[in-house]
Amino acid sequence: MVMGPGRPVAPTQGVLSPLSIDDVRIGPGFWGHRQQLNGEVILDHCRGWMERLGWVRNFRAASGQLAAERCGREFSDADVYKLVEAMCWEVARTGRRDLDETITELGEVFAGAQEADGYLNTRFGHQGVTARYRDLEWGHELYCAGHLIQAGVARLRTGEGTDDVLASVARRVADHVSREFGADGRQTVDGHPEIETALVELYRATGEDRYLEQARLFVERRGRPALAEIELGRAYFQDDVPVRAAAALRGHAVRALYLAAGTVDVAVETGDRELLEIVADQWRHTIATRTYLTGGMGSRHEGEAFGEDYQLPPDRAYAETCAGVASVMLAWRLLLATGEARYADVIERTLFNVVATSVALDGRAFFYTNPLQVRVPPPVPDPTAESPRAQAGLRAPWFTVACCPPNVARLLASLSAYAATTTRSGIQLHQFVSGQVQASLADAGSVRLGVETDYPRSGRVTVRVDESPRAPWRLEVRVPAWATPSVYWISRSGDIASTQNEGGGTATPGYVTVERVWRVGDELHIELPVHPRWTYPDPRIDAVRGTVAVERGPLVYCAESPTDRLDLLSVDDSAEPVDLDRDPELYGAVTVGVTAHDLPAPADADWAYRAGPPSADARPRRTATLIPYYLWGNRGPAGMRVWLPVRPSLMAPAP
Ligand SMILES: [Zn+2]
Repeated sequence: MVMGPGRPVAPTQGVLSPLSIDDVRIGPGFWGHRQQLNGEVILDHCRGWMERLGWVRNFRAASGQLAAERCGREFSDADVYKLVEAMCWEVARTGRRDLDETITELGEVFAGAQEADGYLNTRFGHQGVTARYRDLEWGHELYCAGHLIQAGVARLRTGEGTDDVLASVARRVADHVSREFGADGRQTVDGHPEIETALVELYRATGEDRYLEQARLFVERRGRPALAEIELGRAYFQDDVPVRAAAALRGHAVRALYLAAGTVDVAVETGDRELLEIVADQWRHTIATRTYLTGGMGSRHEGEAFGEDYQLPPDRAYAETCAGVASVMLAWRLLLATGEARYADVIERTLFNVVATSVALDGRAFFYTNPLQVRVPPPVPDPTAESPRAQAGLRAPWFTVACCPPNVARLLASLSAYAATTTRSGIQLHQFVSGQVQASLADAGSVRLGVETDYPRSGRVTVRVDESPRAPWRLEVRVPAWATPSVYWISRSGDIASTQNEGGGTATPGYVTVERVWRVGDELHIELPVHPRWTYPDPRIDAVRGTVAVERGPLVYCAESPTDRLDLLSVDDSAEPVDLDRDPELYGAVTVGVTAHDLPAPADADWAYRAGPPSADARPRRTATLIPYYLWGNRGPAGMRVWLPVRPSLMAPAP
C-alpha cells in the first residue's frame, strides 16, 4: 500500500509536483478568511441540512424499509461523501479531533449500508426500488461511487492508516466497480462522469493497477456510444463522440469538466501524450470561446450546458458553482502536467470570481448559478426551505440539488494544496496567499518561505526565505497575464534599502524566475499592477457587444443597485476607472468609480421597437460605483451587471 501525502491530486509524473496541505499554510487574508469560515461555519451548515433532510439517515435505513423512507434526489449520497471529503482535508489542515471522530462515525454508517459485494447506494438495488445499474443515463450510481472513493482517498492521505473504515468502504466500492465494469463486464459508463478521476486517484494512493485500468476503460468507452439516446442528445453526457474526437468541451458543463479531469489523469498515468494534448486543445478552445469573464462555464440553462462558441449571454449565464470547482480541478491537472502559467491564471480567475462569489459572507448561503447580469432585485429565499437550483436569485441556504455547497467546502479545505508546486530544483508560487511554504527539493535541499501580501487589495507580494540549503535553487512566482507591467526586486537579508537590492526588473506574464544561492532573510518582492482597467469582449460575443467591463487585479467588478434598474446605465470608457475608498459596508473591499450616464427611457413604452435610433442624450455625467463581483447580493436584494454598455454617441465612428 502506497500512502500518498495530504493533497487531492498526486500524479506520479508531470512537469510540476504538488505540495501537500501540511507544506503550505495559508495565513490571514482573502483565502485564509474563507478557509476559517469553511471550518467554523460551512461544514456544520452543510451537515445540519443533510441531517435535517434525511440524506444521512438514508444510509442508516438502507438495510431496512428504505424504499418508503428514502429522502432526497437520486444523487444525494454524493453530497454526503463530498462533505466527508471536505472534513478529511479540514482535519489535515487543523488537526481537529471532533471532525476526525465524525469522519469515523460516518464511515461506519456507510459501512453499515454497504452490500456484501461492495455495492453501495441508497437509491438503487434495494427491495422495492429500481435494481442496480438499470438507469446509468440518469441514476448517478457510479458518480456517487466516485465521490465516495475521493473521500476515501482523502482519508487514506490524511488519516491514521489503511485500516480506516471510510478508506476500506471506498476500496470495496472500487473493487466492486472494477469487477462489474471491467474488460469482460458491463460495456458501459455512467451518465455523470466522476468515477474516472476518483479511480485514478485511488490508483495513485494505493498503487493498484486495476483502478487505473478501469478508469482508462471508462474514458475510452465513452462516445462510441455507450449510453441510450436521450431527449437532450448524447452530447449532454459527452457520449456523442469519443473523447479523442472532440474539439471542445460540450454538453453539461460539470460532466464535461469532470470527464476532462479524469482523462488528463488517465493520460498522465498511462504516458499517453496524445490524449493529454487532445484535452489541452479542448481546454484552449473552451477558454477562448466558451468561458465567461468570471471564469464561469455553462451558458445554457437547458442541459446546464456549454453553448456554441461565443454564445455567452450574461443574464442567462448558468455558470454553475460546481463547474467553477471542476474547472479548477481540470486546470490544476493540466498545470501539473505542463507547468504552463495559463492554467494557474484560469484557476485564479475562477477562484476569485466563481468560487468566492458562491459563498455568502456569513457562510450560510450559496449561489448555484452565477449569472453576470440580474435585471430585477430577486426575492429573498426562505431561510428554512430548500431552493430550486437554477433560480437566478439571491444566495440560498440550501438546494434540492445541493451539489455546490459541499463542492466549495472540499475545495476551500484543501485550497493550500493548489497554491504552490516544486520541481527538482525550484519552487513555483502560483497563487498569492500570505502564509508559509516548505518543500524538500531533490537537487538542492530543504526550503522554507514566508509570504506576505494583502492581495488582491494591493499587488505587493513579498516572499522571504526562512530556510535555504547551500546549493542554488529557483524561486518562481507567477505573473498573471493581465499584470503588465509588473516589477520585481530582491533584497538581501531583510534590508529593503536600495543599496542592498540586487537583481530584479520588469516581469512579463508567466513566471518570474530567480536562480541563486539564497540566504536566510533574502526577499523577493513583486509589485503587480492591480489598478482598475477596462476589459472589452470579443465582438463575436454578440450578447455583450458594445459593452465594457472593469477588472482590478484578478477581480471582476460589477454595478449593483438595490433600488434602480441598471438597464439604462451607460459608461464613458474614454476616462479610466479609478479606485474609490474601501467600503466598510463591503468589508473593506476597494470600490471603483467609472464615469456614467443614464440614458432616458423612451417615452412611449407600448412597443419596444421604433424606426429611428434611440436618443443618446443622457442625463449629466455621474460617478457610478462598482463593487467586486464576488460581493454582489450580500447587502440584500439588488440588480447587478458586469458588462456596462458604452454610451452610443461616444462609441468610435466607423472608418
Ligand atoms: Zn453544483
